[in-house]
Amino acid sequence: MVEQTLGIIKPDAVAAGHIGDIIARIEAERFTIRAMKMVHLTKSQAEGFYHVHREKPFFESLTTFMSSGPCVVLLLERESAISHWREVMGATDPAQAAEGTIRRALGSSIERNAVHGSDAPETAAFEIGYFFNALERAG
Ligand code: ATP
Ligand code: MG
Repeated sequence: MVEQTLGIIKPDAVAAGHIGDIIARIEAERFTIRAMKMVHLTKSQAEGFYHVHREKPFFESLTTFMSSGPCVVLLLERESAISHWREVMGATDPAQAAEGTIRRALGSSIERNAVHGSDAPETAAFEIGYFFNALERAG
């Protein structure tokens, strides 16, 4: 089934100059980029995005990292977009991520792991709506 997911090129990968590499991989994996923009989140915007993790011990550090510099957010569309993008990203911890995945190649720690992807249709809908309004989604 053709579906949509929200991808983020996180501040570590943007700062390291990997925007182009990651977008090239997205296109090679035959995703259609429906919308895209660069955003520098405030701390409270990062907290809103990651509110499901608000009780986790890493929440403070994660939201500080995610607001530390610009991100690139992408609305990605493809057959099985959610699971396929998570496969291409690899495991959360780059040290556990399979060869050939983005996190294995570009992640530097379990927190600074280069990319984000929605994990289910409900979270994808929330995350896409968090970043893109109706006009932007229509692109
Ligand atoms: P994402 O949601 O960013 O696509 P994920 O679904 O693989 O990643 P989650 O469990 O949802 O992982 O965690 C969200 C983010 O929080 C991770 O991508 C990572 O940046 C950070 N994170 C997760 N676990 C830890 C941890 N144990 N220590 C520090 N940061 C963590
Ligand atoms: Mg997640």
